[in-house]
Amino acid sequence: MMRQPVFPRLIRSSCQKKSPFTNKHNRASSICRCFSSTAENNGSQESGKKNLPESASVVVVGGGIIGSSVAYHLAKIGMEDVILLERDKLTSGTTWHAAGLINTFGSLSSTSTYMRKYTKELYSTILPEETGYDAGYMPIGFIELACDRDRLHYYRRVAAFNRLCGVDVREISADQVKEKFPLCETKDVLAGFYVPDDGRANPTDATMALVKGAKLHGAKIFEGVSVSGVTTSYVSEFNEKLSTVLPRVTGVTLSNGHQIEAKVVVNCAGMWARQFGEKCGVNIPNQAAEHYYLITDKMDEVDPSWPVVEDSSRCVYIRPEGGGLMFGLFEWCGEPWNVNKIPGDFSFGEIEPDWDRMGPYLEDAMMRVPASINVGAKKFFCGPESFTPDNCPVVGEAPELQNYYVAAGLNSIGILTGGGIGQILAEWIQNGSAPSGVDVTGININRFHKYQSNPAYRAERVGEALGNTYRVHYPDHTPKTCRGAKKSVLHDRLMQKNAYFRDVSGWESPSWFAPAGTQPAVEQESFGRENWFPYWEEEHRACREGVALFDMSFMSKFAVQGDDAGSFLNFLSTANVDDEVGRITYTQWLNVDGYMEADLTVTKLSHNKFMVVATDTMHNHVLTHMKRRLASDAHVFISDVTGAYAQINLQGPRSRDLLQALTSADMQDFPFRNAAEIDIGYARVICMRITYVGELGYELFIPAEQAQHVYDLIVERGEEEFGLRHAGLRALGSLRMEKAYRDYGHDMDNTDTVLECGLGFTCDYDKPGGFMGIGAVLAEKTGAKIMGGLTRRMVQVLVQDPEPFMHHGDILCRGGTPACEIRAASFGHTLGGAVGLAMIERQEDPVTKSWINDGDWTVNIAGNAFPCTVSLAPIYDPNSERIRA
Ligand SMILES: Cc1cc2nc3c(=O)[nH]c(=O)nc-3n(C[C@H](O)[C@H](O)[C@H](O)COP(=O)(O)OP(=O)(O)OC[C@H]3O[C@@H](n4cnc5c(N)ncnc54)[C@H](O)[C@@H]3O)c2cc1C
Repeated sequence: MMRQPVFPRLIRSSCQKKSPFTNKHNRASSICRCFSSTAENNGSQESGKKNLPESASVVVVGGGIIGSSVAYHLAKIGMEDVILLERDKLTSGTTWHAAGLINTFGSLSSTSTYMRKYTKELYSTILPEETGYDAGYMPIGFIELACDRDRLHYYRRVAAFNRLCGVDVREISADQVKEKFPLCETKDVLAGFYVPDDGRANPTDATMALVKGAKLHGAKIFEGVSVSGVTTSYVSEFNEKLSTVLPRVTGVTLSNGHQIEAKVVVNCAGMWARQFGEKCGVNIPNQAAEHYYLITDKMDEVDPSWPVVEDSSRCVYIRPEGGGLMFGLFEWCGEPWNVNKIPGDFSFGEIEPDWDRMGPYLEDAMMRVPASINVGAKKFFCGPESFTPDNCPVVGEAPELQNYYVAAGLNSIGILTGGGIGQILAEWIQNGSAPSGVDVTGININRFHKYQSNPAYRAERVGEALGNTYRVHYPDHTPKTCRGAKKSVLHDRLMQKNAYFRDVSGWESPSWFAPAGTQPAVEQESFGRENWFPYWEEEHRACREGVALFDMSFMSKFAVQGDDAGSFLNFLSTANVDDEVGRITYTQWLNVDGYMEADLTVTKLSHNKFMVVATDTMHNHVLTHMKRRLASDAHVFISDVTGAYAQINLQGPRSRDLLQALTSADMQDFPFRNAAEIDIGYARVICMRITYVGELGYELFIPAEQAQHVYDLIVERGEEEFGLRHAGLRALGSLRMEKAYRDYGHDMDNTDTVLECGLGFTCDYDKPGGFMGIGAVLAEKTGAKIMGGLTRRMVQVLVQDPEPFMHHGDILCRGGTPACEIRAASFGHTLGGAVGLAMIERQEDPVTKSWINDGDWTVNIAGNAFPCTVSLAPIYDPNSERIRA
C-alpha cells in the first residue's frame, strides 16, 4: 500500500538502468571472501578503537548487509553522527556467503514486493551511480517453475499481484523455459513465471557499495569493535517528548568497557540479534538454522548468462556459478543451529554439512538438471541463516525500550530485501514512527511475544519456518509446530465438541467444528472448498438465524484504571470513550499524522475503570501505544488482563432469549453498546452488547476460574432449548466480511486514514481536548471537500458467481484495468459468493458512489475475470437493523 504524497520514493518505478554483465562479476562470485581489499578501501581507515567518538546520534550494531543499509539510508536522509560498529570484518556474519538471488516475483505482500523492487534498483542503479562502486548486480533473469496444479494457480495469483506492484512478470511455456535454460528438465513443467531483469547480486560488493555510500553521506564505519551492551535510563535527556514510563537508550558499552553515548541504537546483529537484544530486555525471537547450497564442478555446457531457475516442488533454486551450477536448497523441515547461544567468534564460518539428511533433497533437486547428476561437487556449503516464527523480518522500535530499533531475522532474503529494510527503518528512526507509505503491521517487532524466544519454541519452529519457504501458501494454513503454547480454559470442552484448532497468536482456537463422530481434520489443503466447507456454512447460518457460541478468549484485554484513565483514553481515541458509565465505544487510535494505529473497543466500567479490547495480533502494539504516550505523573495504571478473563461471544437473533434464560438481569432492557455485570449461575460476568458479525449479540467476559462453569450452563440450556451451535473463526470471518467490518492488520493498516477506511463516524471532533491526529483528519476533510470527495476509499467486493474463492492479493479491476488488490476475503454464505475488502485509489479524482456505480467491475482470480459488485456501504444489512433488534 503505497501513497505518493507521503513517501514518494516508494512508487518510483524500479530499475531503469541495469548493471552490465561483466567478467568482473564472474570472478567476484558471492562465495569468494573478497572482503579484504574492499574493507581496506571502505572501512579500515576508521577502524581502531582510538578513533571512536565519545557520542553519536545513532549507533548501528552489525556490519552485514542490513546494518550497512541502515547506516547508508540514515546518512543519506541527513542524520548526522551515524556510526556503525562491526564486531569483526564487514560481512563476516551471514552476508559473505549468501547466494545473492534477487527475485522481485514471489510475494503477496506489498511491503515485501516494494522492498525487493527498491533493493534491485538500489544495487543496479542508485549505488553504482552514487558511489562509482559496482554493487555486483547481474540482471540474468529469474524463472519460477510451476510443476503442479496448485503451484500454477498460486503463481498466477502472485503474478497478477506482482504486476499490480510494477513487476514485469511473464508467464512462459515449458519450451520457453528450455530455451532460456537448456539443461533444465521441463517435461513436467506446466509454466514458468519469468522476470527478465531480476537476477543476482554479489552480497559482499553490495555491502561495500552501501558502506561507501554511507561514508560519502557522512557516516563512520568501525570494524573490530564489539558492542557488549546498551545503556538505558528513565530520565529524558535528549527528547522531552519521549515517555518516562518506558526506559530509553542512552548509549552502548563496548567489550573493552569503553562507552559511547547515543540517542538511538539499532540492532542489526543478524543471528546474534536475539541474544544481543536480551541484554537489555528486548525480545527478538529469531533463530539460526542450517542453510545449504552445492556448487558443481565446471560444466562446459553452462552459460553464465542463464537465468536463475527456482523449482519449489523440488526444494531448489539453480543458477550458474563459477563455470558450473549452484543448487540452493530449502528442505521441508530445517535444522536449528546453536539454539542456546550463537558463538561470539563465529566469523566467515561454515557448518559441517549433514550429507545424510540433505542427500535425498540434493538428489531430487539435481533431477531438474539431469546433466548435473554425474558432475562432481566442488563445494557443499552449509551456513547459518536466521528465521522468525512467521517468516517475516523483525523491524522497528522495540516495545520494551524507546529509541532501540531492530532490523534482523531476514529468513534468507536479507540480500534481496536489505535495501528496502534499511530505507524503511531509516525513515522510521528519523520520524520516530513508522513511515505512512508502507504497511509495517506484518514486519513490526511488536507482533512477537516473549514466550516465542524460549529455546524449546525456537528449536521447533525454526525448522518449520525454513520449510515454509518453498511450500505452497494455502490461505487457510496454520502452523504445525509449537502447538498448545496457549490454551483457553475452555479448550478441553471445545475439543470434546470436535473443534479443529488453529494457532491464533499462539492460542489454540477453533477454526470450525466437525459433526460428532467425524474426525476434525483438513483432508486436502486447497485454494477452494475443502472438506469442512459444509460445517462452516452451517455455523455461519446458525449465527444468522439462531444463536452461535464463539470462544474469543485470545482477544487482547487491558484494564486501564485511575483518575486520569478517562482523559488519557479519550485523547488516544477518535470517539468519545469517557461518556456514560456502562457504555461500549468502538473507536480508532491514530498517530499524530492521522494514520491508523489501532481499531478497538473501549468500555467505561466505572468512572475510573475502563476495559480496552483489541485483536490478538495487535496485542503489544496497543499496549505499547498506550505506554509510549503515558506521562509518568498521570494517574493511570494499565494491566494486561487477557488471561484473567475468558471471552465467550453469543451471537445471533436468539442470543437474547438464551441469555435471558440464564440470568436474572433484564435482557430486554439491555440496549446496544451497553455493558453491565450480570449473574450467570454462581458467576458474575461482564456482559457487553456488541457484535462483530452483524447480528444481535453479546460478548461475555468471565473470570477465567468461572468460565467452565458458565460455559457448561450456556451449552446445556442453549443446546436443549435454543439450537445453540458452536462456531469457529472461519464463521466469524465470513460473517464479519459480509457486514464489511474491518480488521486492523489485515484489511486496514498504518498507511490508511480513518476517513479512507470509512470510519469517520467514530470521530468526535467536539469533545474537550480533541484526540491524537485530529488536525490531520480535519485537514483531510477540508481537502476532500475541495476535491469533491476522497481519492482513496475502502470498498466491499462481492463476486457474483457463487463458485470461485477470493483471497488476499487477488486483483480488483475496473473496465478490465487493475485498480487495487483485495486486502482480505472470505466466502459469504448468506450473500452467496466470495466477499472481501479493498482500498481503491484514484490519482486525481475522488472515489464517489456514482463513479463506483458507473464502473464495470471484475476480480482477477488466478488469471480469470469474475464480475463483482462493489459497494461503499455494507452489502449485508446496510442500516444495521439486525444489530439493534
Ligand atoms: C547459504 C545461504 C544462502 C543465502 N542466499 C541468499 C540469497 O540468495 N538471497 C538473499 O537475499 N539472502 C540469502 N541468504 C540470507 C542472507 O545472507 C542474510 O539474510 C543476510 O546476510 C543477513 O544479513 P544481516 O546483516 O542481518 O546479518 P549478518 O550478515 O550476519 O550481519 C550481522 C553482523 O553483526 C555483527 N555483530 C553481531 N553481534 C555484534 C556485536 N555485539 N557488536 C558488533 N557487531 C556485531 C556480526 O559480526 C555480523 O557481521 C543466504 C543465507 C545463507 C546462509
